[in-house]
Amino acid sequence: MSTGLPGHPGEPWSRGVRRREDGSVEVAGVDVHDLVAEHGTPVYVLDEADFRARARGYRTAFETAFRAVGSDVDVYYAGKALLTVAVARWAREEGLRVDTASGGELAVALRAGVPGAEIGLHGNNKSDAEIGRALDEGVGRIIVDSLVEVERVARLAGERGVVAPVMVRVTTGVHAGGHEYISTAHEDQKFGLSIAAPRGTEGGPAGDSPAMAALLDVVVRPELHLLGIHSHIGSQILDPSGFEVAARAVLELRAELAARTGVLVDEVDIGGGYGIAYLPGEVALDPERVAKDVAAAVDAAAAELGTPLPRFSIEPGRAIVGPAGLTLYTVGTVKPVTLDDGRVRTYVSVDGGMSDNIRPALYEAQYHAEVVGRASDAEPVLARVVGKHCESGDIVVHEVRLPGDVRAGDLLAVPATGAYGRSMASNYNMLTRPPVVAVRDGASRVLVRRETVEDLLALDEG
Ligand SMILES: *Cc1c(COP(=O)(O)O)cnc(C)c1O
Repeated sequence: MSTGLPGHPGEPWSRGVRRREDGSVEVAGVDVHDLVAEHGTPVYVLDEADFRARARGYRTAFETAFRAVGSDVDVYYAGKALLTVAVARWAREEGLRVDTASGGELAVALRAGVPGAEIGLHGNNKSDAEIGRALDEGVGRIIVDSLVEVERVARLAGERGVVAPVMVRVTTGVHAGGHEYISTAHEDQKFGLSIAAPRGTEGGPAGDSPAMAALLDVVVRPELHLLGIHSHIGSQILDPSGFEVAARAVLELRAELAARTGVLVDEVDIGGGYGIAYLPGEVALDPERVAKDVAAAVDAAAAELGTPLPRFSIEPGRAIVGPAGLTLYTVGTVKPVTLDDGRVRTYVSVDGGMSDNIRPALYEAQYHAEVVGRASDAEPVLARVVGKHCESGDIVVHEVRLPGDVRAGDLLAVPATGAYGRSMASNYNMLTRPPVVAVRDGASRVLVRRETVEDLLALDEG
């Protein structure tokens, strides 16, 4: 997905990033120096046009591919990647719906004016209050994740005299992420209901799978309407074949349910997890390719099964907002450290760290960084960008070549931090969480303001 734009450094930078002749970088026409003068560092910078283009790109790619096989698609933006009122509005304006995973995310989507009918509610342990709010707001789909929850949603819907639209989240044994997928027979994780039937005991018949048991339970409850079946296979997936295998498995389950109950559900959701480029040279999953491949696979599977295709939905989060965001930091200290093999690693400390991007510590996620405030002819050195927290694992970028004259006061940009940066941020060491600033057409605007120490003190009852 090279942008081919003059001055654009390519992936993993957002489309609005340009490096000028003088070495300084601008985002959507706003110079990083101006951004920093106005908003300080660290700051999450969000390229609005890039977000919108990716949202449109996913919607168009999937609509085109699925309409070509006689089906259709709804695209839900997975709000957990980054949800603010403005971001939810952008998603909606680009024709996306919004997926939420808690009462808090649901509140943001509603505050943005997203109609309940265009919102989904996920979660493996939704509270009565969260389910109740979803029902009261007419949320379009509640994705149930356990048998206990089927009963719970039915009870809360019954109390309100409404019929709850539900999808059942199943696990297909396909787990994907990184560069390949694995298909396993059993499940050992908290999400979803397995489609694998439990083994029969001592020659006895095997029982229904947990997924089938939940579907059968939903079907017979008058307080619930079974919209469809949901499957989310993982994150940062760069090989589309996992989606095809999982979608087929879900279509088989749908056909089996129809054969047993006469209920052929209308919708199948294949989740999110579409991978992006984090490093130069990495290639993001191409939405057109994955849409075509999955559409072809489900078309073939439906023909084999003799069932008409359902409507589909997808839930991309990272692929929409990840590349649209970057984080700007100011360098504070630079320290050369001699390694056992004699090499020197330059530790470059910035004014944020694991509190604004936990992914390197949590998943050993790799990022890239560049000095963006000036040009430099200095020989590059082996550097590690670290934060200011009291943890040696407080790493922002594990390994990157930075100009040998990198020094205090330099502005450093880390690209592709739009997803799971601010949304997973913490106040570790009582750091205040950075603002989210949108840039568009040469102007910046604060979407979420910087937290202050007063904000934090206000929570402390003394
Ligand atoms: C996390 C999640 C997503 C979004 O995943 P991305 O990797 O951000 O695309 C979508 N659906 C469900 C159910 C999820 O848990």
